Amino acid sequence: MPDLDLAATTPACAENGVWLACIDCGHELAPFDTPVYRCPECEGLLEARYESYPTFEGFAGRGVWRYAAALPFEQGVSLPEGDTPLHRVPRLESEMGVRSLRIKHEGMNPTGSFKDRGMTVGVRVAEELGVSRLACASTGNTSAALAAYGGRAGLETLVLLPDGKVAAGKVAQAALHGARILEVDGNFDSCLDIVSDLADRGEAYLLNSLNPFRLEGQKTIGFEILEAFRDEYDRFPDRIVLPVGNAGNTAALYKAFRELVASGALAEEEVPKLTGVQAEGAAPMVEAVEEGWDDTERWDSVETRATAIRIGNPVNAPKAIPGIRETDGTTISVSDTEITDAQRALAEEGIGVEPASAASVAGLRKLRMSGVVGSDEDVVCLTTGHLLKDPDAAAAAGSEPESVPNDTEAVLDHLDG
Ligand SMILES: *Cc1c(COP(=O)(O)O)cnc(C)c1O
Ligand SMILES: [Zn+2]
Repeated sequence: MPDLDLAATTPACAENGVWLACIDCGHELAPFDTPVYRCPECEGLLEARYESYPTFEGFAGRGVWRYAAALPFEQGVSLPEGDTPLHRVPRLESEMGVRSLRIKHEGMNPTGSFKDRGMTVGVRVAEELGVSRLACASTGNTSAALAAYGGRAGLETLVLLPDGKVAAGKVAQAALHGARILEVDGNFDSCLDIVSDLADRGEAYLLNSLNPFRLEGQKTIGFEILEAFRDEYDRFPDRIVLPVGNAGNTAALYKAFRELVASGALAEEEVPKLTGVQAEGAAPMVEAVEEGWDDTERWDSVETRATAIRIGNPVNAPKAIPGIRETDGTTISVSDTEITDAQRALAEEGIGVEPASAASVAGLRKLRMSGVVGSDEDVVCLTTGHLLKDPDAAAAAGSEPESVPNDTEAVLDHLDG
């Protein structure tokens, strides 16, 4: 596992013991001087580096900011986020035939997705930089989170959405939290191209997961899962299965593990296998991992009912692919029908998720059938967003309402009939 170069001395550009480093050429930059999203030398992705790395003993408090020892600041604009449930699902667990199955339901964050974890940190950094306008491209959930956290911080927010391809609940959130919404006649990847251009021209501070500080907040999903397992079972899960869109979460979880390994809190052989699931109609990461590439090739045309992962050009692939490989994980694609089946199975155990979220469970089901996932494994599936985000998908997957007359006897007849 590539280490975080703990032996390196803190560079002069560090502030608060934090700096940015290019994952390709190692170039180091000051973190809070001026907005920067890619390496000025080679265009590579940037990641946050710290003077010291976290141990479990260093965590205190609640939510995302419990993990301040692994974040660039002590506290940020908070609604509050994190502390999401790690559900037991006895029926699904026995159907899957694994040692244990838990569902980390990120849909229970304040705006209904894990994006809130990234936003609380990203908006704190925006305040440090002194920017006035925040922007993102979004398949929906990032825009909802940005609008809420930006609004809370009193900053202007601008979101670019693929016209007609965003679930109703998400647009409603962005609208009511006060974002200016631009609907682009293109897909998510085109929206990201445009908003990146705007950011490069200094028109707005970019809060997509290309922003390395978003991923710092999202690392806390990994810390929460590992801490919960450590407390409850005195061991760590063998595998974490998650839906993949831009691959930000995959990259963030991998970084959480590397940091714990760097501090000695986690042994290399204890690192969970990162297992990424994509929709068949939008699976460039699956292709790249299967072909042994270090980056994805852009899919120009993508389609899936799981709109949150309808992405053809995952920007964080160069960070996420090593995470899949080095942890001995894998990737798999699933059909929309398999996604809907998994969404229903989760809902039957009381866990309401949007379609993209159910991809994790659909992927696990396939990997168990093929024997890639063993019966002796402790598995955690991440469900990334709440059922109410996409009410149309939920209604389509669920039972049909039946009309009855306005009369008790007639209702009884109907129930008997
Ligand atoms: C953003 C999002 C994803 C994709 O996450 P990445 O970090 O971009 O891979 C998956 N599911 C939901 C519900 C999301 O909002
Ligand atoms: Zn570089």
